[in-house]
Amino acid sequence: MPTRRDVLTQLGALGGASAVWMAMETLGLATVTPARAARFALPPGSGQGRSVVILGAGIAGLVAAYELRKAGWTVTVLEARDRIGGRVWTVRGGDRIVQTGRPDQRAEFAPGNYLNAGAARIPSTHRLILSYARRLGVPMEVMVNCNRSAGWDFGGRVIAERQAVNDMRGRISELLAKAIDARALDQEMPKDELATLRGFLGAYGALDEKGRYEPDGRSGFAEEPGGYTHAPVPARALGFGALVPSRAIVLPYLFEQISDMQAPMLQPVGGMDGIARALYREVRPSVRLGRPVVSVRRVGERVRVVHGADRQALEADYCVCTLPLPLLSRVDADFSAAKKAAMKDVPYLPSVKVGFEAPRFWETDDFLYGGVAWTDRLNENVLYPSGGFHAPTGVLVAAYVAGWTHPDNPQRFAALSHEERIRISRDSIEALHPGRSQLLTKPVTVAWGLTPWSEGVGAVGPEWDVKRGARYAELLKPEGPIVFAGEHLSYVGLWQEGAALSAHEALKLLAAMAAERKPVAA
Ligand SMILES: Cc1cc2nc3c(=O)[nH]c(=O)nc-3n(C[C@H](O)[C@H](O)[C@H](O)COP(=O)(O)OP(=O)(O)OC[C@H]3O[C@@H](n4cnc5c(N)ncnc54)[C@H](O)[C@@H]3O)c2cc1C
Repeated sequence: MPTRRDVLTQLGALGGASAVWMAMETLGLATVTPARAARFALPPGSGQGRSVVILGAGIAGLVAAYELRKAGWTVTVLEARDRIGGRVWTVRGGDRIVQTGRPDQRAEFAPGNYLNAGAARIPSTHRLILSYARRLGVPMEVMVNCNRSAGWDFGGRVIAERQAVNDMRGRISELLAKAIDARALDQEMPKDELATLRGFLGAYGALDEKGRYEPDGRSGFAEEPGGYTHAPVPARALGFGALVPSRAIVLPYLFEQISDMQAPMLQPVGGMDGIARALYREVRPSVRLGRPVVSVRRVGERVRVVHGADRQALEADYCVCTLPLPLLSRVDADFSAAKKAAMKDVPYLPSVKVGFEAPRFWETDDFLYGGVAWTDRLNENVLYPSGGFHAPTGVLVAAYVAGWTHPDNPQRFAALSHEERIRISRDSIEALHPGRSQLLTKPVTVAWGLTPWSEGVGAVGPEWDVKRGARYAELLKPEGPIVFAGEHLSYVGLWQEGAALSAHEALKLLAAMAAERKPVAA
């Protein structure tokens, strides 16, 4: 596996900027850890007399525009859609939802309600995107990503997450205690460590003195504790059959342990597009909406981009290209044959969401404030809103299908009609909240594989695993004055953080390349 330094050296050699690495070191841009990335800045004034065209106004394009403008570059951003944000898409009342091969929809949510159709949560480990939120004054709130009161509906039976997690711990502790008591582990560990572990298991797994799991209320109650004579009665423990009805249930048990899925997460108040909109406010004069890029060609050392139905042409010294690969591979570009081959047919995850507006029965009836319910039905996840608690209505994400419980689910769910997706989502809500599905109104569904100008959530598959291969290395290389960014060019793919980090990497290359070329007279 090449080191980061190897890749950059290779990039420099292949991209025509012979001393890229040295130039980056001179500019102080070479050593960047994720922690330092939050303090990234191009040298002030380094863009004077230089122009750049940025393709795409998603997070990568907006971050690039923000930083380049601050360094004095003349920036133009070309965006195909009539909105910024790309895969950060907050749907509000009045918004139109266009899906390829499906009827258009119009969201009718009440003012203040919204569906984060794309990005919806930010972990505290995503320091760069959070640093932009802080810097730009975007108010943030907790996004409840995990809630022990939410339901798990697997094998046709709904149990509370609280019961699943705690009974599982109790049952496993019980088995382990039995093995220790039966001296089955004597050869595995020193005696004193076994004794300490045995003592630990008693409290950890709620075991009685005989080593049997004895629920103490942490799994929930058959009778809630109350006033006066209302003593609590803990819920009866479930057995492994109920706790693991199928393999599909493994992720819910692990979800909170995944480092970028831990509770609490964060979200901008009022919709995930808050950060993209804040960046847009800073760079607005540079952004041209409704300008799909048609062709990208090199003209000497510079670049010429043709855009829009009226085929306007724009020339610039440099280009930052952030287009998702399915779209970029269809742009008429004079890229090298290797680059064209690398960007072709990269699979993109076709996730789907379904949202409904409803009175907040999950709060009033079930006292559920945020969190995620899990199911082995096709809708996979239900997300309860983390904002607007106790408001009259809210938007319930009744389906978030991303292959959480089965890898085929996104394709299968996306292939359905809107009505079928909505019916499946309703049925799931009925199972989790009996008698309440009738309260669901104003459905909206977004399938990302069918969403124009995105065509998927992001690059997936073995080539985008941690061990990246030749295709990824090829996609990182500049093409003359054109550098590339986007979530797919990071190790934090499928996240805004990856988009922002990749933009910084592209800008470092750009700055190094520019340091070697004299500015063209304005
Ligand atoms: C369902 C879903 C859930 C997600 N969940 C999260 C989450 O919880 N947290 C999180 O941080 N991230 C999440 N993400 C990922 C995050 O949204 C993306 O990784 C990030 O927004 C990608 O930014 P980008 O700039 O790389 O690409 P994009 O946002 O796709 O930006 C590219 C831009 O290029 C434009 N474009 C395309 N073709 C052309 C053309 N020919 N000419 C001009 N413009 C063009 C597009 O319209 C778009 O605006 C999620 C995404 C989805 C879809």
